[in-house]
Amino acid sequence: MLERLLGEVQQALYDKALAFRKANTHETSSYDELKKAVESGFAFAFWCGSGECEARIKEETRATMRNIPLEQPGGSGNCVYCGQAASERAIFGRAY
Ligand SMILES: [Zn+2]
Repeated sequence: MLERLLGEVQQALYDKALAFRKANTHETSSYDELKKAVESGFAFAFWCGSGECEARIKEETRATMRNIPLEQPGGSGNCVYCGQAASERAIFGRAY
């Protein structure tokens, strides 16, 4: 009984966190947009997969990569930092 309740509470917290993130994640197509997005939430942007781009973004915006969503909207674009062809999008956000 208690276990079930704890499970439900955890699920509710998880759902809330996920909903919050969804509502605060902005699709960005340029580095300027990413910088703006991480000021108030999360940025969803193409990333080439390079650790150097990740490190530079972190250094310049204080945003770190959160995860690469399993559900990719598809298509391809250019890395938000270096502009190289990219097929994946990642979520960036600042640590609070
Ligand atoms: Zn890159």
